[in-house]
Amino acid sequence: MRRTPQALEGALSQLRREHLWRVRQDVEALGTRTRVRVGGRLLVDFSSNDYLGLAHHPEVSAALREAADLGAGSAASHMISGHGPEHSRLEEDLARWTGRSRALLLSTGYMANLAALTTLAGRGERVLLDRLSHASLIDGARLSAARIQRYPHCDVAAVESALETSTGCAVLATDGVFSMDGDIAPVAELAVLARRHGAWLVVDDAHGLGVLGPTGGGVLEQAGLGEDEVPLLMGTLGKALGSFGAFLAGSEDLIELMIQRARSYIYTTALPAPMAVATRKALEIARSEGWRRERVLALTARLRAAVSDLPLVTSWTPIQPVVLGDNEAVMQVQARLHEEGFRVVGIRSPSVPKGSERLRITLSAAHTEEEVDALAGALRRACQGWLPGERMAGRRG
Ligand SMILES: *Cc1c(COP(=O)(O)O)cnc(C)c1O
Repeated sequence: MRRTPQALEGALSQLRREHLWRVRQDVEALGTRTRVRVGGRLLVDFSSNDYLGLAHHPEVSAALREAADLGAGSAASHMISGHGPEHSRLEEDLARWTGRSRALLLSTGYMANLAALTTLAGRGERVLLDRLSHASLIDGARLSAARIQRYPHCDVAAVESALETSTGCAVLATDGVFSMDGDIAPVAELAVLARRHGAWLVVDDAHGLGVLGPTGGGVLEQAGLGEDEVPLLMGTLGKALGSFGAFLAGSEDLIELMIQRARSYIYTTALPAPMAVATRKALEIARSEGWRRERVLALTARLRAAVSDLPLVTSWTPIQPVVLGDNEAVMQVQARLHEEGFRVVGIRSPSVPKGSERLRITLSAAHTEEEVDALAGALRRACQGWLPGERMAGRRG
């Protein structure tokens, strides 16, 4: 796409023509994240990543309020004077939770992935990435100036042959739970391969933490993988924990290397201390209230069973895509669902590969069975005429 001043108007209208225009809406939270108001309409929200229903938990909000006197801003980076005891305590809690020696707080998951990949890989080396990796892993790899090799989604054999055919692979990185598909990476197999070939394995478990594993420790807890098998874990605090921020976790030395070298850690303002306090409360609830995990996974199974005739992806996590494979189709179905009182967001390319455009439905422990059943009905009606086979027929007619 050309973006010279003269071509700007043309470039924008091309996006509209191709149904790729993104509209940002004011989404008003109404005390509970499952109910939102958009353009004056009350909707049940099936688009947030608040899997455990903690984003508006009264105890988390109370912790934030009580910590408000610590100030809205940290006023400096972690290395200058922005790092306080609240940050250290949260780091200790996160390390204990994930079974790692040490954790390091970063301002966002995007920045955490930049930190991980730019610190571990450099020019002349290689980064192997799953074809469906999150954009922040891709950008981290690009910024590292290493050579990027994308392998077919979750294809362990392809990873093995890539590792065998040439040397100089520095990093193998993958999402734990894939953000747009909800399926789980073959982390145990990847860990064996990475160790055998001396590559760093980085797992971005933004969507697994809090949701999977006996204490919500994510895909690595579920697979029983410690820091010997997976040296670097990235987790976000803005999804299942319902707050904001991110962390890297690994050995003392690896975390120390991040502190010394990672530019997206060093050259940015530290997370505000009240956020760290609120996150500790959210983490305490996430760890101790196992029913939240059970509930969101049970609601997920309920929805899948109710719409098993729709083109779902094989996913057992609260991320449930309905793949329509067409930009216009996802936008039309999104609008119909809105009319029926549901907020579900269509995901188009380049967020997902062309031809796999989808509705990305996400569930929360805060949803009710009735809401899930109502969504299932509305979804089936909204998809009518826009499913891959029907659409072709409809357009010809
Ligand atoms: C959301 C997300 C990130 C980015 O985390 P933020 O804290 O929102 O910047 C990174 N990786 C994955 C897989 C994500 O889904």
